[in-house]
Amino acid sequence: MTTTQHRTSFVFDFAEGSREQSDLLGGKGANLAEMTRLGLPVPPGFTITTTACRSYLTTGEVPPGLADEVAAHLGRLEQELGRELGDADDPLLVSVRSGAKFSMPGMMETILDIGLNDRSVHGLAKHSGDEHFAWDSYRRLLQMYARTVLDVPDELLHAAMAPQYGVHGVATPEELPTAAIQSVCAALKAVIAHHSGREFPQDPREQLELAINAVFRSWSTPRAQLYRRQENIPDDLGTAVNVMAMVFGNRGPDSGTGVAFTRDPASGEPGVYGDYLQNAQGEDVVAGVRNTIPLIQLQGIDADSYEKLMAAMNKLELHYRDLCDIEFTIERGRLWILQTRVGKRTAAAAFRIAVQLVDEGLITMDEALARVSGTQLSQLMFPRFDSSHDTAVLARGVAASPGAAVGVAAFDSATAQRFAAEGQPVILVRRETTPDDLPGMVAAEGIVTTRGGKTSHAAVVARGMGKTCVCGVATLTVDPEARRAVTPDGEEIAEGDLLSVDGLAGTVYRGRVAVVPSPVVAFFEKGAESNDADELVTAVDRILRHADQVRTLGVHANADTPADARRSRRFGAEGIGLCRTEHMFLGERRQFVEELILAEGPAEQQAALDRLLPLQRADFTEIFTAMDGLPVTVRLIDPPLHEFLPDLTDLSVRVAVDHVQGRIDPENDRLLAAVRRMHEANPMLGLRGVRLGIVIPGLFALQTRAIAEAAAAVAAAGGDVRPEIMVPLVASEQEMRLVRSEIEEVIATVAAETGQQVATRIGTMIEVPRAALCAGSIARSADFFSFGTNDLTQLTWAFSRDDVEATIFPRYLENRVFAVSPFETIDPNGVGRLVRIALAEGRAANPDLVVGVCGEHGGDPRSIEFFAAAGLDYVSCSPFRVPVARLEAGRATVTASSSDTR
Ligand code: PEP
Ligand code: MG
Repeated sequence: MTTTQHRTSFVFDFAEGSREQSDLLGGKGANLAEMTRLGLPVPPGFTITTTACRSYLTTGEVPPGLADEVAAHLGRLEQELGRELGDADDPLLVSVRSGAKFSMPGMMETILDIGLNDRSVHGLAKHSGDEHFAWDSYRRLLQMYARTVLDVPDELLHAAMAPQYGVHGVATPEELPTAAIQSVCAALKAVIAHHSGREFPQDPREQLELAINAVFRSWSTPRAQLYRRQENIPDDLGTAVNVMAMVFGNRGPDSGTGVAFTRDPASGEPGVYGDYLQNAQGEDVVAGVRNTIPLIQLQGIDADSYEKLMAAMNKLELHYRDLCDIEFTIERGRLWILQTRVGKRTAAAAFRIAVQLVDEGLITMDEALARVSGTQLSQLMFPRFDSSHDTAVLARGVAASPGAAVGVAAFDSATAQRFAAEGQPVILVRRETTPDDLPGMVAAEGIVTTRGGKTSHAAVVARGMGKTCVCGVATLTVDPEARRAVTPDGEEIAEGDLLSVDGLAGTVYRGRVAVVPSPVVAFFEKGAESNDADELVTAVDRILRHADQVRTLGVHANADTPADARRSRRFGAEGIGLCRTEHMFLGERRQFVEELILAEGPAEQQAALDRLLPLQRADFTEIFTAMDGLPVTVRLIDPPLHEFLPDLTDLSVRVAVDHVQGRIDPENDRLLAAVRRMHEANPMLGLRGVRLGIVIPGLFALQTRAIAEAAAAVAAAGGDVRPEIMVPLVASEQEMRLVRSEIEEVIATVAAETGQQVATRIGTMIEVPRAALCAGSIARSADFFSFGTNDLTQLTWAFSRDDVEATIFPRYLENRVFAVSPFETIDPNGVGRLVRIALAEGRAANPDLVVGVCGEHGGDPRSIEFFAAAGLDYVSCSPFRVPVARLEAGRATVTASSSDTR
């Protein structure tokens, strides 16, 4: 009896898939399938799915059936090409490459030339008529295989090859004569046998099987894990494996390999960008070991291939409707496309390209908005070097990733990490970078390499991380052992010397170069009057205006000074969502608060309040005037009162010394008694927020009077003033009721005194878990809620933010208790759940309730997405984050509607 079993397939030919299948086939595999469907010249091959990898990672073994499927697909490939893998006469060779759903540059190793062994190397030599090429290919296989599959350290492999370099006076292995390469192969095999305790596998199918498993395993290397943590890529996706028939770029001057971009990934400029390396294979370009030539020069070397490449790039860009990057190889005048993907780009390029594509009719403004991010916009708001500086250029290279970085030189990853841990900004200076340098690159502000171009490892990774990078600074000679670099005229840069790196101009300077604000910020500051906007600024402005049109989430600012209020308005804020009043009691005004606390009897207390009133009123008048026509939410005083009093220990010592020396100061004694009385073990859980208003009579009334009188004055002067009074730290309906009636009474009194009726809404922060859980009853006494997600996160997790961020969080992040600090991005399941509960119950009890958020999360891109989806009315954030929030609020609308229709 036969049973038909329906099993998942683990292997797909390139001709079987499409670009939509990146979950299953990984990004590379899905794009290879798409290019094959488009009829582009892709070498044939197949992809092993991420499902197979996940199964391997869970069980430690390849899933049942995978080996048979690989054999069947390999058989088809052999048939199609008329050659057998590793055949002794005319071998088929294949490459094995990893390819996860999200590209992870440099993370996963590639193995080329699988199928070569002691016999087939002769077959390849005979069939290609090029013995040098055949042996050099074998050398590459041994080297890559040893490193990637058998974990032989690079130093041992280099040590095995180095003696031949000396004998023949060459710098790279492919320059060696054939006989020397044969000796290198023998030496590599000996190192492999010695280090791994087994011979290099001569069976081509075993080579393939072990290589596939090694790719699966490489998902879990510390480097890959670090990258995923950096980029927030989930740990459980797994990688696909692509097996592709080899084509060779190292078959002489009519062959080569390169990387091409359909637009400049650094600036967004349209045109031909890329690097080409003649007579080279595989990773030579990306590794940046030899200096490449600009792609445009390929036209003069091989016009036919160049034209075909341009046509393929054009086809891909029109098909993907985006900047594509492409890896290609030319073998004896024939073009092959080995890989494409929607290319990584800098923040500036992202904005410019999005708008260019709209103008070219390829995408809509909604799509343009979805293709840029708040994080990118915030990168563009960083300062850059002052273009008028006259510091002499120390060295020049390729402008690989823009930015202005100043830091001390470090010549290896470990030193870079150490300097950064000591709090010093670092510039990592290397000949070239490899994935091993990733921790140092993460730690550095900027990266300088002496080799490689815009597509070297350093450049690609730096752009991905938004770090400043200058590559190919050929005039610098770096000596990592001696921890120094030297210019051609002998000037030395030692470890710890201060450097400035301009990633936009590709220049390196000694010392500190002055920085100026970004042109994007300058544009926001000037607002509509600005007419000197360049293409980047115009692109940002157009996309932001579109975001404003589509977004349903309002954007307010957290501002407590008139200057911040004016700036937030220029940056596009639609109101002030949080005006903290604490600082209005500091500086020289602290004295008055001290008097208020120490007051004996109502008369003294009133005198202290009377001194504070005009000062507070002046503060509010200026802010209300700056925000004419827009709401201003003033939060009543929040921090514990002891913060306004002298430190207990200092004062105790002072009084004790005075007593010993016979000096008695009754004022100091009285002050000390008060400080003792008010001392709290946990001040953040003590006498603060609404509790102050209830315990210290007159304090909230004073603030309310100042607000109401200021509003009346602005209204009398013809202003459109919209004050809102917000009570902090409320946990119960009764607290809210008590305070609300006191506030309403003062407002009514001021209205009677001034003859000005100013509509003033009264609401509360929701920053205590109990308030979120009892939101329905609190909403009956509140016109609005504003989530204070800073305190709500602290109190929900029972974390004291100022303490835990340094002590506990590094371990928590490492162990994935959370992927990102809950103080940075809202914790959707815990704190986020409280937000949803409070929103639903608050709105049910009071349908007119306006709900916003004013914690730090209000300016965080991922949190904004959460708040938009939850249905809040607005977010409020610091003035500099207002444009980022506007953009993200717009993105939340367009990405939500595109997922509705999917
Ligand atoms: C909050 O708790 O989120 C908040 C905005 O208040 P503060 O940060 O002033 O405590
Ligand atoms: Mg708070």
